[in-house]
Amino acid sequence: MPRLVMKFGGTSVANPDRIRRAAKRVGVEVAKGYEVIVIVSAMSGKTNELVGWVEDVSPLYDAREYDAIVSSGENVTAGLMALTLQQMDVPARSWQGWQVPLMTTDAHGSARIEEIPTANLDAKFAEGMKVAVVAGFQGISHEGRITTLGRGGSDTTAVAFAAAFDAERCDIYTDVDGVYTTDPRIEDKARKLDRIAYEEMLELASLGAKVLQTRSVELAMRFGVKLRVLSSFEEMDDNAGTLVCAEEDIVESNVVAGVAFVRDEAKMTLISVADRPGIAAAIFGPLSEAGVNVDMIVQNISEEGRTDMTFSCPVNEVPRAEHAMAEAKASGSINYHDLVADTDVAKVSVVGIGMRSHAGVAAKMFAALQAEGVNIKVITTSEIKISVLIDRKYMELAVQALHDAFDLDKAA
Ligand code: ADP
Ligand code: ASP
Ligand code: MG
Repeated sequence: MPRLVMKFGGTSVANPDRIRRAAKRVGVEVAKGYEVIVIVSAMSGKTNELVGWVEDVSPLYDAREYDAIVSSGENVTAGLMALTLQQMDVPARSWQGWQVPLMTTDAHGSARIEEIPTANLDAKFAEGMKVAVVAGFQGISHEGRITTLGRGGSDTTAVAFAAAFDAERCDIYTDVDGVYTTDPRIEDKARKLDRIAYEEMLELASLGAKVLQTRSVELAMRFGVKLRVLSSFEEMDDNAGTLVCAEEDIVESNVVAGVAFVRDEAKMTLISVADRPGIAAAIFGPLSEAGVNVDMIVQNISEEGRTDMTFSCPVNEVPRAEHAMAEAKASGSINYHDLVADTDVAKVSVVGIGMRSHAGVAAKMFAALQAEGVNIKVITTSEIKISVLIDRKYMELAVQALHDAFDLDKAA
């Protein structure tokens, strides 16, 4: 029998009524002859609440216990979804991650999936079960402890199951009807894309578009999973939503596919470090060991053997970064005059595979920002993206200005 993976995000399972609505959609696919694997998130707001409790009890929490607690939201929705399907006479059973078992690394809080054995679910499908409901976001380490896959991780669970069970498609049901040129909450003129290339979606996700977790796109690209994003609130036909697919399967596309942003960034500058071989390693080694996710790096011009080193990281990691740098200074491995943290910055990026063959995207981007009086603090580029750090208060303005400048409200 053909198989399908259907993933429902937090707003799609926010209460029993929404779960019934989602279950109905599952029933439609079962009636078409599919065996379905349903992946559920926790009810919307639940994971945030659980994280809040963890931090309240223990600010420097043990990551193993964090995972034991924050994974629990998905257990509830998985059971409720299975019960709802049973009420509709659809043979269904729920699984928590450890029961599959979905094996992961032991990197608690952001574990990676290593293996999904298919035997347990296959045996049940062979007995006539039509729907396996699996709790998203969670797995089990080789030490036998519960792990989680990082925020938004249910998307990754869904794609991994689609790959492991050779599903015809992986449908991600959420609160928007597809992937847009930018977050529709920020720009009214954002336009839904019918198709987007894996590479572009990967960049958009890693640059802040949280509609899909970055790793889910990475996996879909690696295993060629047909990935579709669609709304669980509107009526959808088979061509609805956005298909994330190979570049070759897209006929026309704009040079720039979309604009992404990260609101809570920080810009850190080490003033006057020695400009010598090994200085970057001496700075970024300890930052990495401290779990600081460094993004942009700029080394300024050197004067009399000393230079300034600037990097960006998520704003909530600033205390950790400061601590790591102070320790490195105390140990004598680096020496600097001062560490200046600018915690009021945001990152805005434009992404598009068309940039490979079109010059002038950067110039157009900078001109659009200049026209709005937005000062650029740091710039980084890659083959298919350009990112800038700017003052946070200009973030919405910058996103809208770039959306306009690249005519993203109009199809190619
Ligand atoms: P779920 O709970 O279903 O996983 P998320 O909140 O994780 O849903 O992701 C959906 C949200 O992603 C949307 O409500 C939207 O605000 C946001 N988003 C950010 N960028 C985009 C984009 N380019 N296209 C669509 N949605 C986006
Ligand atoms: N419930 C988890 C979160 O909020 C996982 C997910 O929704 O994908 O991050
Ligand atoms: Mg999500």
